[in-house]
Amino acid sequence: MVVATRPEQQVKIGQTQLLINNEWVESESGKRFETINPATGEVICDVAEADAPDVDKAVSAARKAFTSGEWPKMSATKRGELLYKLADLMEENKEELARLETLDNGKPLKDSLNADLRLSIACYRYYAGWADKVQGKTIPINGPYFCYTRHEPVGVVGQIIPWNFPLLMQAWKLGPALATGNTLVMKTAEQTPLSAFRVGELAMEAGFPPGVINILSGYGQTAGAAISHHHDIDKVAFTGSTEVGHLIMEASAKSNLKRVTLELGGKSPNIVFADANMDAAIEGSHNGLFFNQGQCCNAGSRLFVEEKCYDEFVEKSVARAKQRMVGDPFSSDVEQGPQVDEEQFNKVMSYIESGQKDGAQMLCGGARVGDRGYFIAPTVFADVQDGMKIAQEEIFGPVMSIIKFKDIDELVERANNTMYGLAAGVWTQDITKAHAVAHSVRAGTVWINCYHAFDAAAPFGGFKQSGIGRELGEYGLQQYTEVKTVTVKM
Ligand code: NAP
Ligand code: MG
Repeated sequence: MVVATRPEQQVKIGQTQLLINNEWVESESGKRFETINPATGEVICDVAEADAPDVDKAVSAARKAFTSGEWPKMSATKRGELLYKLADLMEENKEELARLETLDNGKPLKDSLNADLRLSIACYRYYAGWADKVQGKTIPINGPYFCYTRHEPVGVVGQIIPWNFPLLMQAWKLGPALATGNTLVMKTAEQTPLSAFRVGELAMEAGFPPGVINILSGYGQTAGAAISHHHDIDKVAFTGSTEVGHLIMEASAKSNLKRVTLELGGKSPNIVFADANMDAAIEGSHNGLFFNQGQCCNAGSRLFVEEKCYDEFVEKSVARAKQRMVGDPFSSDVEQGPQVDEEQFNKVMSYIESGQKDGAQMLCGGARVGDRGYFIAPTVFADVQDGMKIAQEEIFGPVMSIIKFKDIDELVERANNTMYGLAAGVWTQDITKAHAVAHSVRAGTVWINCYHAFDAAAPFGGFKQSGIGRELGEYGLQQYTEVKTVTVKM
């Protein structure tokens, strides 16, 4: 574990104002707020603070762009071309975007490049390809009628994104919304406003008409709530905590029944059988938990390990965690940067305390690393019991909880014993067992002998309180269209 945090970052900070109607503007109140470099705790810059009046302005622009002007008349092919162009511009500027993401979020630069940028660009291209392939059906109804369906855009969409994958969550939301002809108002997370603005600049360069893409920095309780309660927003797509997910649905019910899709938290079981390829399972489980500083909604944070291989697995996993390189996210050999902010840092530390208090065995980590920024040593708990807080609640940090199981019969019920249902992992060389577990785990995604294997074409989303609806793939498009039935008397 090495810490070497330099202040020098050489990152170009671009726009810090709100993007409304293809113009960069201050907030109506003139207020601004600071965004912090989590590796040092120092202020990077301040950005405009949107509130309800700015949301109103952005929604008006989005509504106008949805109903008149170029956008509603634009061919689907042309919409696809704009998305391809945006992806190309991101590709040309990917080093700069990656540095900005690392500065604001704290994730290692090599992850920003190899994961966030790679997947974001692929997502825009994937949905660019779909733009002119979204089509309805002709339906043979009874009587002298000709009946067909149209897949029309939902309208003005509010999109609220989190801080753990700022560029990628932006791509997951913009891609399908724009491919299907919606207009949108996006609110970025207060911790990470910067990279989304750069994409906004590139989207203008690509040629998206005014009002189609509006991007606001601001707080959840003000700007976010103004979006979820807005009477002229037709749908909200939200990614974040389950707690706020409940508020989003409530706001929809209390306002205009806007469509709601939610991608929320998780406490995903990652299951290792004794017949697995042990080295692959250990490395895959390490990555499945510690990737992105443990700040993944789908982190394999309940690690079930079969009794027969438990001791070996624990010993090797602890050794691997101790080796994990923590430090300056701009260093090429660093695997883990800081947690995103002080609040998340404190939250993770309190879970570590709770694990110790509840009697789990802490075998490494458990402490702050360095004397500034929000670094936490990779932490491994063994002998975790199902009911402990660290086995039930989303920690969102570099804390691995290893739980022993005896055999497959007891396993499935225990794996499903959570309010969440986002993802799961299974490690075994027995294909029958692998598929049996994959089918009985109540989760939106199951990875067999891998983890975090994402692709723009593969749908992602949660069962139970992990969310509603799916993002990515063809399924992700359905959430951005309304089906209209047209019937003609022949
Ligand atoms: P959060 O509050 O759910 O934040 C997600 C987004 O929702 C942010 O843009 C946030 O704005 C906004 N928001 C907050 N309150 C809102 C409200 N009342 N109405 C509308 N929008 C609102 O999550 P957090 O506080 O950043 O993190 C807390 C925990 O959530 C984490 O520890 C983790 O367990 C979980 N989380 C999950 C994901 C995921 O990918 N599923 C991502 C992030 C966090 P602000 O920027 O002002 O907060
Ligand atoms: Mg920040």
